[in-house]
Order: sequence, then structure tokens, then C-alpha cells
Amino acid sequence: MLMTDLIVKKREKQKLSADEIKFMIDGYTKGEIPDYQMSAMLMAILLNGMDEEETLNLTVSMMNSGETLDLSGIDGVKADKHSTGGVGDKTSLVLCPMVAAQGVKIAKMSGRGLGHTGGTIDKLESFPNFNTGISEEKFMENVNSIGIAIAGQTADLDPADKKLYALRDVTGTVPSVPLIVSSIMSKKLAAGADVIVLDVKSGSGSFMKTEEEAKHLAEELTRVGKLAGRKTVAVITDMDEPLGNAVGNALEVKEAISVLKGETKGELLELCLTLGSCILTEAGLAASEEEARAKLIRGIEDGSALNKLAELVEGQEGNKVAVYDTSLLPEAPVKLEVITDNIGYVNRISAADVGLVSMHLGGGRATKESVIDLSVGVYMHKKVGDKVEEGESLATIHASDVEKANEAAELLKKCYDIFPTPVEKPKFIKGIVR
Ligand code: URA
Repeated sequence: MLMTDLIVKKREKQKLSADEIKFMIDGYTKGEIPDYQMSAMLMAILLNGMDEEETLNLTVSMMNSGETLDLSGIDGVKADKHSTGGVGDKTSLVLCPMVAAQGVKIAKMSGRGLGHTGGTIDKLESFPNFNTGISEEKFMENVNSIGIAIAGQTADLDPADKKLYALRDVTGTVPSVPLIVSSIMSKKLAAGADVIVLDVKSGSGSFMKTEEEAKHLAEELTRVGKLAGRKTVAVITDMDEPLGNAVGNALEVKEAISVLKGETKGELLELCLTLGSCILTEAGLAASEEEARAKLIRGIEDGSALNKLAELVEGQEGNKVAVYDTSLLPEAPVKLEVITDNIGYVNRISAADVGLVSMHLGGGRATKESVIDLSVGVYMHKKVGDKVEEGESLATIHASDVEKANEAAELLKKCYDIFPTPVEKPKFIKGIVR
């Protein structure tokens, strides 16, 4: 078999067989197929697509490119969660302890991520000494004994995706549904959970700019999950404005803790209740959505969800006291209120641009080697639909120095679009694909 023939086949809109896809993924993972040929193939896939069978075969070949986790030795239902990515997305920090407190086993492998803030793994490192690189044995032991472990993906898990994602990033081939589906689902399948819940973002701050595109992606993700024998549910949610109020690593951890304490309500809590209910019902731990929500709310009220986060932190060598005393988390030296002359109602907040403000402050990673400042970011006091009165602060900038804070404040003002007349709050949960 020759890679050139496969590229020509896809260029001519023909279907690739399971053997051809396996040849291509194995060859690329081993370094036998060069980047320039794989780049041409990725562009041909982006332009001409793949049908359902090809997407499934691509996913399975990628899953089998490295080690797969065998969670069969762990009692109970194992669940995993994935988000297609967005600004201010701290959902896992709330959701995972919430559902683990109800008896679902959470075995989650997370990425660090490039972009506006770090990934879940970076955010967890806000807890002093938290170890995201625990061994596989320790990972399994923690899932078994405390019901939750969240670790960085090992190099051996889905090596094909690591290479392909890096190549897609620099060849303009990220926004392709078969490539996104195979990338996400190959990692999730390799990580071994029985129940997979997916948060598919729709809007300016995500890959899928429209609700229709997000729905299509959600349908494809769930279809592949089910064909691979896993219970898979996708929830489509808004990512036109950032999620919640905080954007920045330690700031997001503090917001997550406040939701787990029952102090913060709003869209982040709503999202976690929706995703959590999907997990509990699919896991057979609740007979209905209503029962699942009631259990999850009780877990917040009686402190068990917050305590589960503390157990997670302690189980991975972190200082669990910081869960109860957030002054122990990283704190930026400079805080600046963003006051605007515009009064009225917030019509729009560009999630992508707020992400760039966080990057500017040092909260995100431009390259794999960049070092993140966990303490910096933006805390938004005003969200879409809120009234802004004279002299009120839109947000607080948390920065490492005054110059950066002033620059970030000017950039942040430009992210806000303020209308003279009242604006309706957008619908946050846009649909569920089971
Ligand atoms: N997240 C992933 O893991 N892969 C993609 O291709 C897009 C989002």
C-alpha cells in the first residue's frame, strides 16, 4: 500500500477502507509516513469529508495506536467527561467531584491545552503540590478507593492523536468534523470509561460557530461512542460569552469551589447539573433526570461534593486545606477594576477576545513550552443581559504588574458590546443528544 495512492483516493472523494486507514495511522504514528503526506491527507479529509464508517475506523485505529486503559478491575460504573473547549471552562472541576460524591467512578485523563487558559490539569495545579503525573497504579488505586482521579494524559495514550493534533494546528485542518470526532473519541475510548458525557460548545468562542454545526458534531460524537459500545451523551451549550465569571486558572478554581459550596448559582451550576444528571441516569444511579438533579443538589448542600474535591486533591498529594481556604491558592499582586463610560445592557461579550486578554496577562500558553501564570486572569462582574450603571465595574483584572493590568483593561472594554435597551439572557443549554 502507498500513502500517495490513499491521498489521491481521498482527493477524488473516494472512501478509504478500514485497512487503508489503519495503514495510514500506524505508519504516521511510527514515523514511517512523513508530515507532508499526512498534511495533504488531512486537507483532503477536511475538504471532502469522511462517511460514518470511515470516521469510526479512523477513531478505532487512533485508539489502538497506543496503550488503552483497562478499568475492568475497578468496581462500579466508570464515567468520563470531555468538552470541545471554550473560554472559562472549569466544568470538570465542579462536575467530577459532584458525580463522584454520588458513587460514580471518575477516571479522567486530561490535557493541558494551548490557548487562553490552561486545561483542567493546569487548573488543578493551582492547589499547592497537586501531582497530575501520578503513576497508572496510583491512578487506579485512587479511582477504586476515593472514586476519583484526574491525571495528565500519558505519552502512551493515543500517540496518533498527539501527532495529528499538532499537525492539524499548523496546517489549518482543525475544524473538520471527522477529524474532531476521531480526535476526541479515540482518547475517550482509550481511557476506558463505560459512560462518556460530552459538552459540545457552540458559538464564537468555540470551533462550532453555529448551533447547527454543534448539533451535527454532537450527533457524530455520540454515534461513534455508541458504535464502540459506550453509553455516550452530548449536551450542546452556549460559548458565545465565556462560561461563568472567571477566566484564568486559579480564578476558575475559586469559582468552581464557590459552586461546590453552594454559594454561586447560574449557568455553571446549571451545566454541571445537566451533565451530572446525564451521567447518573446513564450509570443507572438515578431513575430520572429529576431524581438525579435532586441527588446532585443534596450533595452540594450536605458538603459531600466539596469534600470529594478535597479527597481528590489529597489523593494526588495536594494541600486539601486550600479547598476550604482559597486564600492558599495563587493570588495576583495587582487587581484593577474595569470601569466603562458606556451605560446600558450587556449585549455581547466576545468569548474569544476575553480569552486573548487572559493570554495577554500570561494565563494561557502560546506554545507547548510556555509557562503559565496561574494567578492571573479576568473576573467578570457583568454578563450578557446585565445592566451596567454609571461607575460600575465590568470586571476585575488580576495581573502580575500595573502595566499589564492597564493594557488588559483596555482590551477587555473592547470585548463588551453594550446596548441602550434591555437585552435578553441567551439560552445556555441548547440541546441534548442521547
Ligand atoms: N478537542 C480535541 O481533543 N480534538 C479536537 O480535534 C478538537 C477538540
